[in-house]
Amino acid sequence: MRKILKQYSLLIWLSLILIAGFGFIHLAGLLVSRDAIRQSLSEQILPITGDNAYAEIQKDLLRPVLVSSQMAHDTFVRDWIINGEQEPEQIARYLKDIKTRNNAISSFLVSNLTHQHYHANGIIKAVSPGEPRDQWFYRVAAMKSAYETNVDVDTANRDSMTININYRILDDSGKLIGAAGIGIPMDGIKRLIDSYQARFHRNIYFADQKGSIVLAGNTIKKSRNTLQSTPGLSDIAVQILANRKSDSLHLEYQLDNDNILLNSRYIPELGWHLLVEQELTNDLKPFQDITLINIAISAVISLLILILLALSIRRYQARIDKSAATDQLTSLLNRQAFDFVFQQALLDSERSRQPLCVVLVDIDFFKKMNDKHGRLVGDHVLKEIALIAKRSLRESDVICRWGGEEFLILLKNCTLEKATSIAENLRSMIAANDFSRTTDLAKNRLSISVSMGVAQCKDDETEDSVFDRADVALSQAKENGRNSVYFSE
Ligand code: GH3
Ligand code: MG
Ligand code: MG
Repeated sequence: MRKILKQYSLLIWLSLILIAGFGFIHLAGLLVSRDAIRQSLSEQILPITGDNAYAEIQKDLLRPVLVSSQMAHDTFVRDWIINGEQEPEQIARYLKDIKTRNNAISSFLVSNLTHQHYHANGIIKAVSPGEPRDQWFYRVAAMKSAYETNVDVDTANRDSMTININYRILDDSGKLIGAAGIGIPMDGIKRLIDSYQARFHRNIYFADQKGSIVLAGNTIKKSRNTLQSTPGLSDIAVQILANRKSDSLHLEYQLDNDNILLNSRYIPELGWHLLVEQELTNDLKPFQDITLINIAISAVISLLILILLALSIRRYQARIDKSAATDQLTSLLNRQAFDFVFQQALLDSERSRQPLCVVLVDIDFFKKMNDKHGRLVGDHVLKEIALIAKRSLRESDVICRWGGEEFLILLKNCTLEKATSIAENLRSMIAANDFSRTTDLAKNRLSISVSMGVAQCKDDETEDSVFDRADVALSQAKENGRNSVYFSE
């Protein structure tokens, strides 16, 4: 395990660096986007939605105020009251006309002289101070401003609201003679609530001064009755309700693990707080998706880089291993590598009881040849002898460059007799070869001969001993005229 860790430590480190690097970049990107979205939502988008909602409310308020003002200043209305409220059907027709022309839900007139309450449908009732439904008239009668705004919300259907304007009617001397006005639905704000909900998943709702949610779109749960009783909102309810200025508040709360950004402003005309809120997660979702895609792409790229790197490391490792084991000039195994191969072959032969032979090859008078034709020709001869030997031997046999102009051949599963014959064959092939044909450096025929010593590994014999015996045999060949094969018994 430790060995594997050591071998692949570069790859492991690189993987860690890539994971950490890519992870940091993507996470930082997500955090920066999150901050940017939070800032733009809280400081721009939600306040603008609040502005739009406020503008719609004012637009909706303006029309009934104008109509009610016209009613209160109408000379017909004033004269009719002052003249004793004769022929009530006249005022009923007037109220009906006002109601129809303005698409109003109601139009009404209360006389302060007779305390009669006239409606567009002709019903006449008297108002009385003890009746809760008539309280508004006594409030209007006592107030200083010219009119008041009253909002009625259909409690069964929280997104529908009616705005009533109660306008004071004064005679020429400024004395209160009655109150008149109309009630019309606030369509604009309803449309706005719907469109913001559908398009941006943004909630617009209203809370009165006590914190009761008086008007909200469909996405706000019906169970949300007050700010104080809603989880998350309850923490910031005090802040919301304390704000009585037209400046909006930028707030944030948590609900079901979602961060919700909230913008709150007070609307003096209604005495309500207008609240606009949006989940941060909604806008962050595309960035989270992109981050996930980026992480996946980075992971694939990292994996490809690591695979490519692993492959090239392996290739270089193989090349290094090979060059460490081979002789550069002849491409044969070198002596160090041969030692390892020989040990293995020795073990195999002992196990399988098959004979193993070594043949030591030494070029005759190589020094002279070098001196005569130059080292380059000498090198060439070494290469060619290596080639001839490779060609003439079996695949399973191993040849190695033993020293300067010496080679060692390992013949597996081969008796001494057979090995001597193979060596003899090789000797004669080399002796018959014209080395000048493959090198243009030597002009005339170039013959080379080799001497060889053969030895078969004996049971329990050491490596050194068998090489020594082969060397002795080789020396005999040298002494007895060279260009020959001798073997050790
Ligand atoms: P002998 O028949 O007794 O073996 O004579 P020799 O000249 O072959 O013997 P010796 O060991 O005296 O000479 C070996 C020479 O091989 C000496 C050296 O210059 C030459 N030699 C060794 N390695 C290389 C090589 O890589 N390239 C070339 N061109 N010559 C080499
Ligand atoms: Mg030699
Ligand atoms: Mg020699």
